[in-house]
Order: sequence, then structure tokens, then C-alpha cells
Amino acid sequence: MSVRTTIEIVNARQNNLKNVSVEIPRDRLTVITGVSGSGKSSLAFDVVYGEGQRRFLDSISTFAKSRISQLKKAKVDYVRGLSPVIAIEQKKGNNNPRSNVGTVTDINDYLRLLFATVGTGSCPVCGHPLCQRSATQLAERIGQLPVGTVVELRAPVSRPFGEDYSYVFHQLREKGFKNLIVDEEAFSLADKRELDETREYRIELLIDRFTLRHDRFIQLAKSIEAAMLALDEDIFLKIEIPSGAPEGFYDGFGCPDHHFALFEMQPFHFSFNTPASACHTCMGVGLSYVVEPRFLVVAPERSIARGALKNTVFNASPAGMQSYRGVQMYSLSQKYGFSLDTPFRDLPKYIQDILFFGTKGEPIEMLHPPYAKKKNWSTGRTRPFVGIATEMESWYRHYIRRSSTTEAFEPEFIRECMIERVCPECGGARLKKQRLSVKEGGEDIDRLSQMQLQKLLAFLE
Ligand SMILES: [Zn+2]
Ligand SMILES: [Zn+2]
Repeated sequence: MSVRTTIEIVNARQNNLKNVSVEIPRDRLTVITGVSGSGKSSLAFDVVYGEGQRRFLDSISTFAKSRISQLKKAKVDYVRGLSPVIAIEQKKGNNNPRSNVGTVTDINDYLRLLFATVGTGSCPVCGHPLCQRSATQLAERIGQLPVGTVVELRAPVSRPFGEDYSYVFHQLREKGFKNLIVDEEAFSLADKRELDETREYRIELLIDRFTLRHDRFIQLAKSIEAAMLALDEDIFLKIEIPSGAPEGFYDGFGCPDHHFALFEMQPFHFSFNTPASACHTCMGVGLSYVVEPRFLVVAPERSIARGALKNTVFNASPAGMQSYRGVQMYSLSQKYGFSLDTPFRDLPKYIQDILFFGTKGEPIEMLHPPYAKKKNWSTGRTRPFVGIATEMESWYRHYIRRSSTTEAFEPEFIRECMIERVCPECGGARLKKQRLSVKEGGEDIDRLSQMQLQKLLAFLE
């Protein structure tokens, strides 16, 4: 059989093409010309490129295909003589100031593929290097343990910036998880137990717990695979042997001190357009909105009781003074020894800071203000106070999260008190921290996508 020297197209009917049959010489530069609307682009992109791409995609796995938007079959009887195709389209640049060479071109797609294939991770606690391991590889290693060994598969749980534990637990319950391990102690999500919001805990999700049997290798591999799927947000799995693992068990496979192993990764693990991979705080935008306290004070010469604060933030009317917020203000003034009648600008800076950013974990006893006629429901209780600005930011984040799924009402009164900042959690990198902990040649994917093209190419060589 001779090698074809042309690409033969028969009866192309895509868009404006009217049964066009044509032979295009291969290995030559060919220009397609014609009046506007005659179907030049349809012939080049939809028929030639589209068919080449579609045939290539047909040859890859169903899994990979499901992650690529499939091209429709072009309207043409047949195209012969195609080899793998590449299309360079004319592109209008977009004016987004956050775009870089990586995102405007498709370089980021290749970087994601690179990281998913050869990126190495590190233990989230101590930074011990971790290589990617498949479910089968993990099962093989675990299967070498003596029969009867109890094995636990766990995953680290992180709290998004500025969120409380109750929010995190709610999310986990919604995903159907039940068992946690908090500071090495069992903790059931079925109990309505609460954690001290001002403390840091080491929280892990207990995904599976089983006893090794000698004839159950396939089941073991399946359990591990199920754990990987359950953790679509995560790339680390902790393999814990409660009775103590034999010496050398974690060598080359996990962190010997903290028992974390790294899963096989996929390109979507490095996409900030995938909610599970995007930074929790900025949702993959790289910027976040913070409340600017100056915007909350409308009349610094007035006191809190006379309307120094924005009406939507604290209403100093007689009813407002008796509301939950009014009782809270009165209780704060009693605890920290200031007056609600002092002009706001004369309040010491540390008092203003407490009002905006909270008591740093110090609980507030809710007192009955002498001016209040009715008793507020909160009187006599002890409540945390995180500050007016912090509260508003947290409401705003809840709104942002909900707004992607439902028609949530936009909290305009919060938005107008906010300014734009680089996201405090990801520093503008838009990905979750654990994704950024994966490195190639010592750099994370964000650093590489910010590199100048020449430097990047030299780096990748
Ligand atoms: Zn470690
Ligand atoms: Zn972020």
C-alpha cells in the first residue's frame, strides 16, 4: 500500500459547505481562500481538524474521554489521509488582568498533565517526599502485612480559611461520612458534639477499617479504590495500622512518621475551575473580599449608642439596642470597660479592634442592659464573639458558596463594605494548598504557570 500524499475530503456539508469534495496535498503549506461565509473555517477546523481530533479521541480510554469535551462528528461522507492534527486558531486576547501566558494559551493544560503524571507530593505534616501510588500498589504493600492486622484508611480534613468546625462537619455529613478521628480519638458525626472553635485540632476522616485476610487481595484493592473515589477532593490517604506497622513498612511508600501516602493524580486535580481542586476561600478566583472596618463607621464623632456604625451593621434605635447585637455591644462594653456613649473615634484602638475582629476566643457573658425592657433570649448565656467584620466576611462566603447552586440573595450591604485583596489562603494561586504541595523540579504548578515562556521552556528541558 502506498502512503497517501493527499488528504481527501468527500461531500463536506458542514455549516455553509455545499457538498464540497477536495483533495489537499500533504506536507505542504495550503491556503484556503474564499469570500466571507463561504465555509473556509468550516473546512479547516470542523472537517479536517474536527475529524482528526475525533479519531484520536476514539483511541483513548473512556475515562480520559469523559474529561474532554467531545467533538461532534463533522457532516462529511469521509476524510481520508489524516494523521494526528494540530490547530492553531486566531485568538482574541482577553483583558482579564489575572490571565498569564499559561492560561491564555493552552500551556496550563499541559502543565496539569505534567503534574498529574510526574509531580511528587510531600507529607502534609512534615514535608517528607511522597511518590504517587496506585490503588494496586498500595494494596500490594498492605497485603504483605500479617493476616489479622487491622488497617485503617484515613484522610486529613482541613478547615477552610475563616470557617468554623460546625461548617466543616455539616459538609462531611452531607457527603455521608460518619466517623472522624480528632486528635487521635474517635469522634462520631452522628453525635451533635461541638469542638472549641478557637482551638486547632488534628482532624481525620476514617474512611474504612478492616482486618486483613489472606485470600482477599482483590477486596483490599477495591477498598482502597473506593477510598480514593470517596475522597474526590483529596490526594492524600493515611494508612494507619493501629497495632503498629512493622519496621520499614512505610519505606518508599508513605511518610514513616505520619503514614500519609499520595494517590495517583489526574489533570483535574490541578484545575482551579474544578470546585474540588479550587482554593476554598476564593473559589479559584485568587482574590477575596475582606470587610474594611473604615467603611463600617459612618459617623466617628458619634458614639455606638448614637449611630456611629453603619445602620445595616448595627441599628442604634431603641429596638436595636435591645436586639441580640445591642445586648452583645452592652456586654462587650462591660467586659472591656468602655462606654457605648463615648464617641467612636475616642475609643482606644484595641477596643475598636475587638469590635471589628473579635475577642480572640475570649467568651462573652451576655448581660441584661439596664436600658432594655425585655429580656433577650441570649441573656445569661456565654457566647463567642468573632467581631463584626469577621462575621460579615463569613456570611459573605456562605453566600458565595450557595450562589453557585441556588438563587441566593446578594448581601449588598456587606459587599459595599468590602475591598478586594489577594486571597489570604492561596496567595492568588487559586488552588488548594495540598495541590500546591505537589512539586515538579521543586516548583508548584502556579509558579510554573507564572514563569516567562523562555524560562519555563528552559526549566522543562
Ligand atoms: Zn510526615
Ligand atoms: Zn484562594
